[in-house]
Amino acid sequence: MLELRGKPVVEKLESELIKKIKLLKTDGIVPTLSILRVGEDSGQLSYEKSIVKKAENLGINVKKVIKNIASKTDDIIKEIEFLNNDKNVNGILLLQPLPKSMDASLIRNSISKDKDVDCISDKSLGDFFVNYGKQNVIAPCTPEAVLEILKFYGYKLLGKKVVILGRSMVVGKPLQNMLLEENMTVSICHSKTPKEVLVELCRSADYIVSCVGRYDFMTKDAFTKGQVLIDVGINFVDGKLVGDFNVEKISDIVEAMTPVPGGIGGITTLLLMKHIVDCTYQQKDCTYE
Ligand code: NAP
Repeated sequence: MLELRGKPVVEKLESELIKKIKLLKTDGIVPTLSILRVGEDSGQLSYEKSIVKKAENLGINVKKVIKNIASKTDDIIKEIEFLNNDKNVNGILLLQPLPKSMDASLIRNSISKDKDVDCISDKSLGDFFVNYGKQNVIAPCTPEAVLEILKFYGYKLLGKKVVILGRSMVVGKPLQNMLLEENMTVSICHSKTPKEVLVELCRSADYIVSCVGRYDFMTKDAFTKGQVLIDVGINFVDGKLVGDFNVEKISDIVEAMTPVPGGIGGITTLLLMKHIVDCTYQQKDCTYE
């Protein structure tokens, strides 16, 4: 089985991005991301750390705004409105999930569309679903990473069958939109899909993308020779980071697969950086040329 590593994809995207950041710097512009975190969740802290490290390496400024979990929805919205109006901030990343006491929908929808680097507000998502493929339309980072890796490794998509496992607004649904634009035939399964239907759909697919968040939830009979698997899942089993697919179980069947770690995750982070730079260009009304 071929391992589809994310590193070369990241390197390619990074070299393109560095050129764009240099061009901005010649005009005295340093792209700036504001990360808004509520509380001290360990998963969010580790995600934030990786973003800060990547941004610093690329020459992107990061401003952290940290709020207490006892904060009110209005406090967080006021903070976001301040960032929306701050000309020195080009992108806003809201770490999720928010505490249950808060109105998450009101909060994410207060992020201005031109700074929504993670494409989480209804306006950004609406624009993405209607206008994807046109200039200046930001896509959610993780589904974009799936498409980048498939294209990087030269896979033919047009007319091929793909099954997406998971229908969240973060991964599954936007990915469906993107793969339809590639003229693929797309099926989506979720927790209410009967097991035999899921197995049947997967067996006849050329590509399977799993974004479920449950390790080894599929039986071996769902896989067939020649399939390409993209693993978006992030799970911890006995303290070890793993994806959704059990590699040992299926490596003698499928043709290729992305590893976890070392697959989609790093590309997702890099695409977030790209979105900060894209937003900066749009706000400053400059082009790459
Ligand atoms: P989510 O909101 O919890 O969605 C999970 C989806 O999986 C839901 O649609 C759910 O169905 C479906 N599902 C649950 N059990 C299933 C089963 N047995 N068979 C088929 N479908 C099933 O999670 P998410 O935010 O989309 O994230 C999914 C995974 O991707 C997580 O592990 C997350 O950590 C990871 N992730 C990775 C990256 C990255 O950059 N690598 C980025 C984002 C997320 P229902 O809709 O019916 O509940």
